[in-house]
Amino acid sequence: MVKTNSKSKILVVDDEPLNVKLLAAMIPSEQYETASAFSGDEALKIVRDFRPDLILLDIMMPGLNGYDLTRILKSNTESCDIPIVLITAFRGSEYEIKGLEAGADEFLNKPVNKTELLTRAKSLIRLRQYKEQIKSRTCSINSVTSNIDEKNCIDNAELNLPTILIVEDNKIDAKLLQRYLHGEPYQIKFASDGENAISRSQQERIDVILLDLLLPGKSGFEVCSALKEKENTQNIQIVAITGLSDLESKLKGIELGVDDYLIKPVNMHILRTRVKSLVKKKALLDRLCDKYEMAVHSAITDKLTGLYNRRYFDHFLDFEIKRASRQKASLALLMMDIDNFKLINDTLGHLFGDKILNKLGEIIKSIIRETDLAARYGGEEFSIVMSNTGFEEAADIAERLRKAINQYNFDVTKRPTTVSIGIALYPSDSTSLQDLLSNADRALYRAKHEGKNRVCVYSNPIMPN
Ligand code: GH3
Ligand code: MG
Ligand code: MG
Ligand code: MG
Repeated sequence: MVKTNSKSKILVVDDEPLNVKLLAAMIPSEQYETASAFSGDEALKIVRDFRPDLILLDIMMPGLNGYDLTRILKSNTESCDIPIVLITAFRGSEYEIKGLEAGADEFLNKPVNKTELLTRAKSLIRLRQYKEQIKSRTCSINSVTSNIDEKNCIDNAELNLPTILIVEDNKIDAKLLQRYLHGEPYQIKFASDGENAISRSQQERIDVILLDLLLPGKSGFEVCSALKEKENTQNIQIVAITGLSDLESKLKGIELGVDDYLIKPVNMHILRTRVKSLVKKKALLDRLCDKYEMAVHSAITDKLTGLYNRRYFDHFLDFEIKRASRQKASLALLMMDIDNFKLINDTLGHLFGDKILNKLGEIIKSIIRETDLAARYGGEEFSIVMSNTGFEEAADIAERLRKAINQYNFDVTKRPTTVSIGIALYPSDSTSLQDLLSNADRALYRAKHEGKNRVCVYSNPIMPN
């Protein structure tokens, strides 16, 4: 069995070879694969072939500098998701603002501190994996829920990015606010008067409104009360932006439902912090009362186990395989089947069998990682997709699952309930979705054949017990 290469890839870009060496030396080779480039142009070429998961980028370089390169990479759909850490010799917010405007994700000051570098790298790479996962899940959700009534619901294609509506009649002020939010994971939309703001909020998904109080036609206060009165817009978080600092208008705004205030001239850092926390609040409110989400939930969830259903699993695996092949990443598929379940049903009753299935759902959820996806594949079979996962990690989680189930006391009077698990990997031992499924199934079959209550990997059996 060839060990799957699931190392994350980091590209180091600096015109000074010594700096490249120093940075590369800080990155542990057991965890990361590194590549280097000595100019912006060279970096562009390497990004295409090497497909890094993170770029450490010097700002000052002859030719294409760090800001330019960031702008180019962030405006290209192939590379816009790659996190970029700008490395600068200068401290100060003007460099940061310029970098943020270009689309950079983080900054590090020279001389670079190793711990800080590795912490940032780890969290940015992890965040990117989460985002990719959300994308896959969103796409799968869209494919299985096309029959759900979408009136007043979330715009599916944009499900994963919060939307900020800037309501401002002064174009320069509006652009300034947009610039201040650059680099944050939001979609920005504009409305230049109150009427427009209200109608857009009713037709599209809007999470936070940055609302100028002095508008032509309807005032900001009127917009606010109109939105807070209607059920489908009342969760939208409204930040009133005003040159007026008097207490009276503030109080009036709060009475009408304004969620937060900013006084002109707006400070970028304060704006970013406020928006971030309001986006979170909006998401929580939505989760509490979104009927759409309930509908989605029941369309993709298996009732008995609380795991995803087969339909959703099929779509998800398809997306994940395409993604893995695009990104040259690896993926593990686990197939799990309860041992002698027919006997359990026959001796303890079908209802008791159902209770076991339900509890198994809970145990699986408690053991898999956030980025893994578990589904009820059918009857008493489960499947788990593990993205960006190689052989060792997958086998380790499978073994933990097997043990936890074996040790759980389902039936106080009789012997333990056990499961057999088969693992296959893409692309190291399977070339397509069908291949992956049938290889995982073969591994499972072997686990049964070799005595059950064990984990088998398609091309490499592991013997527990
Ligand atoms: P093996 O160890 O080889 O997997 O043996 P087994 O008895 O588990 O295998 P078999 O495929 O013969 O039996 C599966 C059983 O699972 C038969 C079916 O009645 C039971 N089953 C499938 N779905 C459900 C369900 O939703 N609830 C209950 N209680 N039982 C189910
Ligand atoms: Mg330089
Ligand atoms: Mg079975
Ligand atoms: Mg079985």
